[in-house]
Amino acid sequence: MGLLELTEMTVQYGGLRAVDAVSLDIPEGAFVGLIGPNGAGKTTLIDAVSGLVPSSGSVRFAGRNIERMPPHKRARVGLARTFQSIELFDDLSIRENLLVAAEGASWLSMARAPFWPSRSADAAHRVEQALASLGIEDLAGRMPDSVSLGQRKLVTVARAVAANPRMVLLDEPAAGLDSAESIELGRQLRQLTTDGRTVLLVDHDMGLVLSVCDYVYVLEFGQIIAQGSAAAVLQDPRVVKAYLGSEAAAPMESVL
Ligand code: ATP
Repeated sequence: MGLLELTEMTVQYGGLRAVDAVSLDIPEGAFVGLIGPNGAGKTTLIDAVSGLVPSSGSVRFAGRNIERMPPHKRARVGLARTFQSIELFDDLSIRENLLVAAEGASWLSMARAPFWPSRSADAAHRVEQALASLGIEDLAGRMPDSVSLGQRKLVTVARAVAANPRMVLLDEPAAGLDSAESIELGRQLRQLTTDGRTVLLVDHDMGLVLSVCDYVYVLEFGQIIAQGSAAAVLQDPRVVKAYLGSEAAAPMESVL
């Protein structure tokens, strides 16, 4: 039984089926990729798993049906995510940005921390673990606008990890990075599964997705058109066609 299981998940925007009867099964501890051309429905799928857009079909997480849970409860049962846009509090240090997430994203919890030091100590511990997991301990005291784009991306992932989730949904973490930065990001992201977490990675950077993921789903027009190892999906003619029209498979391999 998978940690995250979608059965016939469908998201409808008016007349458009952005996600069309998608079923997938992600085992605990796996690093799974979701790729697909622009507008394929990748972000919509992550939004629906997070509870940010309504969907039909079933969403099971850790053996529970969660499709009716609001987003904050899904977060509480262990689902965390990042967003395409980097929204860090620029007036807080990187450590403080993570602490807000670790405390439950509540300013009230920050304010009451002095009265419940044990809870605060627990959050502080999770923050240090998240920083270490992403290899950015040395950035903890820096302000977000003083670090590089690649480092800010790692901070947003660390912020999701600071809530100690079982699964992290990553929405295009490599957007805006060059290929060397993207390879470095992939190396650091692998640490999440080494630490026992489960990852679903959505990205346009085929090199990143295909090199770090154990298993890859390919979405086109809201439907899964291929799935398997990176090597298998690279060879799949439907994937080649979705990305390159009728070109041969050879150029696909050059993305790695
Ligand atoms: P990209 O790789 O460009 O980010 P994507 O694979 O993440 O694309 P989505 O952003 O999920 O694709 O969009 C899937 C489809 O749903 C697209 O046709 C998009 O125009 C449409 N869409 C997305 N959000 C909405 C919305 N809020 N209302 C209506 N249509 C939407």
